Amino acid sequence: MIKGIITKGIGGFYYIEANGIIYECRARGRLRKEKIIPLVGDKVMATIDCKSAKGVIEEILERDTELIRPPVANVDQVVIVFAIQQPDPNLGLLDRFLVMAESEMLDITICFNKIDLDNYNRVQELKNIYMHANYHVITTSTKHNIGIDAFKEILKDKVTVFAGPSGVGKSSLLNTTQPNLALKTGEISQKNERGKHTTRHVELLELDFGGWVVDTPGFSSLDIDYIEVEELQYLFREFLPFIGDCKFKGCQHVNEPNCAIKERVFENKICQSRYDSYLQLLQKINQKRRY
Ligand code: GDP
Ligand code: ZN
Repeated sequence: MIKGIITKGIGGFYYIEANGIIYECRARGRLRKEKIIPLVGDKVMATIDCKSAKGVIEEILERDTELIRPPVANVDQVVIVFAIQQPDPNLGLLDRFLVMAESEMLDITICFNKIDLDNYNRVQELKNIYMHANYHVITTSTKHNIGIDAFKEILKDKVTVFAGPSGVGKSSLLNTTQPNLALKTGEISQKNERGKHTTRHVELLELDFGGWVVDTPGFSSLDIDYIEVEELQYLFREFLPFIGDCKFKGCQHVNEPNCAIKERVFENKICQSRYDSYLQLLQKINQKRRY
């Protein structure tokens, strides 16, 4: 028996990496009967026929996390990439990615890329907002080779999924860490040339300095229907110390009097843009519930 990790699954075959070798495996019939479907990222025990490098998955080890989009098990963290410009950062969208990542309980790093295009100290402004909200923020430029070591340090020995709009530099960032990923990461886009969403197989790409990256961006559909109104406040981490201090139990921090969250926004202890995103998302979730 060997212990390995599923890097790819196609048509009932699973490709398992163990000690630098890839084995083509099928799942034991018993697993199928029990409706246990192996996922990319699963750590598995497999029996191997050494001559053919083929094998059978006998057991799937317990999953730490299970992401739905893309379907990958045991993802450690998400790196959310936005550009300083081209395209201009949409903070409402960034906050949505953050909410989704928080609800999946992933570790989070925010990466602001293309800092070579910064003319108006926008980088500092963005860093202030998100460091104030207790996020780990890095700034990079693939063009001027800035921040790439810090970026690699974050990826090292982890399983990472990327999120962020297209055109912000996700593929470029990966390519700077490891040029031989270049071919494969050309595909790290949500759409093909005709602008249509493609259904393709998810794959884990191995980093030669240790770690894995998921070749498909996460959270692309951006639906937040599954989040409950009461849950949303807990997904804004800088709100956490103040939840429970409001006058009304069940305060949604909108129009209620003596709201601790609104008071913190007034005192600039919580950033206005983050609070605005909270209100927007709250409204969206409330609207969904009515139908
Ligand atoms: P993705 O869609 O997020 O994977 O983005 P790409 O990696 O395909 O990059 C989109 C465009 O931004 C390409 O034309 C890159 O050359 C460019 N780009 C990537 N990183 C940087 C950067 O740090 N500075 C500048 N000025 N352009 C960049
Ligand atoms: Zn409140």
